[in-house]
This record gives sequence, structure tokens and C-alpha cells, in this order.
Amino acid sequence: MIPEEEITIKINKKGWKIKIVKSTELSPSTCGECDDPSRAKPEIWVKRSLKPKDLMDTVIHEVIHAIRPELSEEAVLETANVITDALWKLNYRKQKPKKEI
Ligand SMILES: [Zn+2]
Repeated sequence: MIPEEEITIKINKKGWKIKIVKSTELSPSTCGECDDPSRAKPEIWVKRSLKPKDLMDTVIHEVIHAIRPELSEEAVLETANVITDALWKLNYRKQKPKKEI
């Protein structure tokens, strides 16, 4: 099981937190969530129980929502799937986080 984890990145000049969280912290029907980018301290949440490739896909998917909130769900889905496939085939994989929270 991937541990809980939290990082901060800059998206469109705003600090975003990306949190890998316990599955119970998100609705059962969802893999991840992205705040409205107009929020003061927006966050992205992704379930840590996802399979490794689904975790990568979900992080990419939610980050695309954050960068380009005007895109349709379908466009985000397709874009994230293609980027995930490319990175996965190039053998990019998650390493252990630097520190657990
Ligand atoms: Zn989406």
C-alpha cells in the first residue's frame, strides 16, 4: 500500500497541494478530486489504494483539470490516458516518498 503523502506544486502561479490519501477520505465512486482553481489554497486528492498505473493516471488527470479547468471531462480523460501510457511504457514508476506524513 502506498503511504499517505503530500507535496506542493505551482500551477498557474498558485500553490497547489497534491495529497495521496486514505481511500475512506474520498467517495467510493471516485479515484481523485480537484478543487476549483479559484480557491485560495486549492488541493488535489488521490486515493492511495489505486493500482500503480491508475494512481499515475489519476494524478495526471487531476493535474490537467487544475491547469486547464476549461477542458471537458472527455478531453482530460483522453489526454491523461495517453500521457500515462507513454510514461508507463517508458518505465516510469512511483518511488517511495521522501518522507511519510
Ligand atoms: Zn475528471
